[in-house]
Amino acid sequence: MRKAQQHRWIGLLLWGLITALGCVALARMELTRQREAFETDARIVHRLLSQRVVQHDAVMATLALLQAPPDASQPEQRLMAVYPQITVVQRRDRAGVWADDRLRVAETLSRALRRPALAEVDFARGRYQLVLAAEPASYALQMDIRQVVPWSEWPMAPEASPVRVVLVHEGQEYVLQAGHIGQGGWRFEFHKHLAAESQPFDVFAQRQVGWLALPWGWMLAWAALVAAALTGWLALLRQRAARRRAEELLRLGQVARLNALGELAAGMAHELNQPLTALLANTQASSRLLAEDPPDMTTIREALAQAADQARRAAAVVGRLRRAVERPDPAAQLQAVMLQQAVQETLYLLEPECRKRAVQPALEAPSAPVIVMADPVALEQILHNLLMNALQALEQVPEKDRSLTVALDSNAEQGITTVMDTGPGIPAQVLPRIFEPFFTTRSGGLGLGLSLCESLAAGMGGCLQANHHSPQGAEFRLTLPLAAAGGVASASS
Ligand code: ADP
Repeated sequence: MRKAQQHRWIGLLLWGLITALGCVALARMELTRQREAFETDARIVHRLLSQRVVQHDAVMATLALLQAPPDASQPEQRLMAVYPQITVVQRRDRAGVWADDRLRVAETLSRALRRPALAEVDFARGRYQLVLAAEPASYALQMDIRQVVPWSEWPMAPEASPVRVVLVHEGQEYVLQAGHIGQGGWRFEFHKHLAAESQPFDVFAQRQVGWLALPWGWMLAWAALVAAALTGWLALLRQRAARRRAEELLRLGQVARLNALGELAAGMAHELNQPLTALLANTQASSRLLAEDPPDMTTIREALAQAADQARRAAAVVGRLRRAVERPDPAAQLQAVMLQQAVQETLYLLEPECRKRAVQPALEAPSAPVIVMADPVALEQILHNLLMNALQALEQVPEKDRSLTVALDSNAEQGITTVMDTGPGIPAQVLPRIFEPFFTTRSGGLGLGLSLCESLAAGMGGCLQANHHSPQGAEFRLTLPLAAAGGVASASS
């Protein structure tokens, strides 16, 4: 149960970890995609605006070069029909003066720099003026910023796009596209000068990506996929544990059967030895007496003597059979075994049996390991028998009254294992006979389990005792000699 729970926790932890890592990777991928899309759009915006402002330089240079005569037709006024962003065109002939003094200042600057210069930047009204000093006439153009933008080539939908695009000049801002800039999440920014010295504006673009923009659908799908994979993996682990447990039980069953066979043969030999001897002797005597008339007493005596010899031989054969089926001496297999581990492994094997009977076994053990000298297989068999007996006894009481405890303890020389149950207990008159071979109160029982356990315990230099458990139930106490400090073997090895 503990192992299954452990697996569940490990599975849950792994699920959380892999899901979190995957979701972070998915979120990063989505944010990178959004950032790249934003930067591509911002670069296109910058290039389009740069092309436009450079075009203004070219228009002014052409005007200065052509220097149309100052006649009434004023051809430069036709510019506005061709370039909708140019809203006013002014011209100052050599003798003339600018109506606005800012144009005069800009003209002086333009003459010094030999390129168009800004005269007035009024982002609040969405316009600016550009002056180019030339001979004999200088020109001033007024631009409508909104018309400067080539909207037909604009890479975003100006009303719907979440990207904010602003033109910045010396603290003034002109919003080309409002976008949606909220709080929280991630903010991408793009900042670059326009590629024209005469119109030194900055393009400033921003994009706010909120938590809702993360790929939640994919993340959920990933979490579900990881959960499915881990559930499959856990099922596989469970399957493997169940198979191992079944194999262990089979092995234990085989060992138990072999030992039970030995016990059976031993019991049968014990039971049959005397009757067989008597029967043989009587039969021989009777047959001889019946065959002779008058009976030949000398022959009868010889025959009886021979019969007795035969009977003794038969007894010897039975004795040999008994020796032949004797179990291997557990004392020969003794090694250091940690009781805690041995009990835990047996409880693990019996998990399904406990579950079937709604019994939750408890292990009360000191924190320091109790290490005894034992044959690991024999010890496992004893524990298995005692626990199975306890479970069978518990079947006879209501579920709510069922309790099974294995307590470990030690004194100066012995490690003590006590198996206690709250079943019907052992009646006082039954207690002295409980370790006798073939003694059983169960209809399907062989009555060899406890007798075998007692022999195994004795073979390991220990002992097994049965007691009444107060207030109700039975208590079996197995004592085994403590091991000197040293290596520890697993109970199933
Ligand atoms: P079997 O289980 O085949 O009967 P055992 O030698 O294991 O043989 O047990 C002998 C008898 O001891 C059982 O029939 C039962 O009456 C009694 N017994 C053993 N363990 C318990 C227990 N925990 N509570 C009550 N009686 C028990």
